[in-house]
Amino acid sequence: MSEVTHVEEIFAKNVFTLGKMKQRLPKEVFREVKSVIDFGGELSKTSANVVAKAIKDWAIENGATHYTHWFQPLTGITAEKHDAFVSHPDEMGNMITEFSGKELIKGEPDASSFPSGGLRATFEARGYTVWDITSPVFLKEASTGMILCIPTAFCSYTGEALDKKTPLLRSMEAVSKQAVRIVNLFGNTKATKVTPSVGAEQEYFLVDEDLYKRRTDLMFSGRTLFGAPAPKGQEMDDHYFGVIRERVGGFMKDLNEELWKLGVTAKTQHNEVAPAQHELAPIYETANIAVDHNQIVMETMKRVAIRHGMRCLLHEKPYAGVNGSGKHDNWSLTTDTGKNLLDPGLSPNENVQFLLILACILKAVDTHADLLRQSAADVGNDHRLGADEAPPAIISVFLGEQLEDVVRQLVETGAATSLKEGGKLETGVSTLPDTQKDATDRNRTSPFAFTGNKFEFRMVGSSDSIADPNTILNSIVAEAFCEAADRLEGAENFEIAVHDLIKEYMTEHQRIIFNGNGYSEEWVKEAERRGLPNIKSTIEAAETLTKDKTVELFEKFGIFTRVELASREEIIYETYAKTINIEALTMIEMAGKQIIPAVVRYSKTLADTVNAMQDAGVDASTQKGILQDVTVRLTAMKKALDELIEVEKKAGQITDEKEKAYFYKDTVRDVMQALRTPADELEMMVDKELWPIPTYGELMFEV
Ligand code: ADP
Ligand code: MG
Repeated sequence: MSEVTHVEEIFAKNVFTLGKMKQRLPKEVFREVKSVIDFGGELSKTSANVVAKAIKDWAIENGATHYTHWFQPLTGITAEKHDAFVSHPDEMGNMITEFSGKELIKGEPDASSFPSGGLRATFEARGYTVWDITSPVFLKEASTGMILCIPTAFCSYTGEALDKKTPLLRSMEAVSKQAVRIVNLFGNTKATKVTPSVGAEQEYFLVDEDLYKRRTDLMFSGRTLFGAPAPKGQEMDDHYFGVIRERVGGFMKDLNEELWKLGVTAKTQHNEVAPAQHELAPIYETANIAVDHNQIVMETMKRVAIRHGMRCLLHEKPYAGVNGSGKHDNWSLTTDTGKNLLDPGLSPNENVQFLLILACILKAVDTHADLLRQSAADVGNDHRLGADEAPPAIISVFLGEQLEDVVRQLVETGAATSLKEGGKLETGVSTLPDTQKDATDRNRTSPFAFTGNKFEFRMVGSSDSIADPNTILNSIVAEAFCEAADRLEGAENFEIAVHDLIKEYMTEHQRIIFNGNGYSEEWVKEAERRGLPNIKSTIEAAETLTKDKTVELFEKFGIFTRVELASREEIIYETYAKTINIEALTMIEMAGKQIIPAVVRYSKTLADTVNAMQDAGVDASTQKGILQDVTVRLTAMKKALDELIEVEKKAGQITDEKEKAYFYKDTVRDVMQALRTPADELEMMVDKELWPIPTYGELMFEV
């Protein structure tokens, strides 16, 4: 039995928590920090220096040698540049470590190597990072030693966001401001702030490291580019929630401990649908911290897996034909007076507020379904969205039977008559009981589902940052709240006005509600009839970013400028083309240097056998037939390989990023498939001893 871990002892051991700040900072400085965290603003220069010194002392006491501004550029992962806590030694050769408030708050990494989608050409190349004081600094234990990480936002000198965090923080402010207006209307005048809460369930695969290293495709592209299905897949449903295997269990234990030390509330863990697929979910928290923590979760998974002789695959579709990996982004809104706005509540008044909020969310999601879809798009996720196991690429909202019925009543009958009679607002239903959490009311096929007191956005890809989806959610909901508040604040009779508004929004946007099977062919047709967008790929979704309605939304709330949006669209095309280019080149290498030579060797064995048998006067027609079958496929492979080399050359000559991305999508990918199909068939025919790469069976079952 290994050592027992006491969570309370190690939890947030490596985080400079508010508690530690309180202990180590003078009272006034702590109060200033707390006020900036709660209400915004900037730390004074003197306080910043005091805070920096306290952080440095704590970090060094805990073994830190370096610090870094930890930020999230548009690559979707985090970036860091380590600086040692060293300065000029004094005359006597003693090192006096220094770390000023300025170094804590502002950094200047060289921005030129991060994607900027043309922003660099238009603006200053330099960028700077600014401490996000609402997300605590932490110590990362890495092979390089203990690093103090300071969560930061990353902007250009002229203020354009170069990262995923800046717009997220802007969107949080926007939704807070508008939501406060809504709750004020319902008599809650104490609330001054509304915070989006986020809990991200993270799926991942584990694979044995030795096998991984023999798969060039996994190493370079994070997914298998060849591979015939294993005799056993996920059809027995014996992996989901099954007993966790020993080595995986050891990994999970280690992972949890690492995460707890970093203040991540890793809560649930279980096996997922596919063999060697697992899930981890932390407890929800403030959106920007949840975004940071999800990055930490992904990084830590990769690091800990290596320690256990495995690799963690975060790709959305590491294996064709088996369940892919996603991330469920659970989202809700909570006031600083402690009320979750997505909780139906117990009194009719709370119910009306809830229904208004629900109506606004329906309006937001319907109006910006394309944008929400875009926020979950990435190259890897294209393999998943619309396939069997994942949500379809069509956005719809699942409300559950009870709420759907409420909406129907409101749309059909309204409550105008009861208003006349009683002079009091009726919601059309009695108080909504809190029964939505009932497991029987779950719909796993919906991309955007109401689950009791939160929405669960299930489209996000497993490798993707959750910053974009939450930025979009906050923004579109802020817009709907704003419009509602504009109308209601000026209303003569609030009760009638709010009722009319709920009815109007629900009537206009009910087409977005769908409680049926999102994977069915009928739904695709039905959605088309309803006029809902069905955007098939990442690059088609990219255009949404610069549509007028999107730009208007973001500019209204100061979240993105048109220029920032155009740059992000450009980066999507670039990233898309680069990713598929790497995949294509990897296939060329594997086919040319591994698979084709192996098949040629096998063909020779077969040919030798045929000759020997014929010499011996024995009928060799069976062996000949096998040789024939192998040769047909080998020829197909060679032809596709030549063609892939050819189209790759062509792709390299295209200079327009969008055109290039479409060329990869419409041309290169087809040729890649043409190369894969015969290769996978050959895998089933060629002597196992000769097959040069580990099979799906080995990759998924030998963990
Ligand atoms: P599931 O059945 O999908 O696993 P859970 O209830 O276990 O649902 O929650 C999944 C995630 O949702 C967890 O990260 C959890 O902390 C988070 N979550 C729960 N309540 C809320 C809420 N009000 N707002 C945001 N996230 C929440
Ligand atoms: Mg879930």
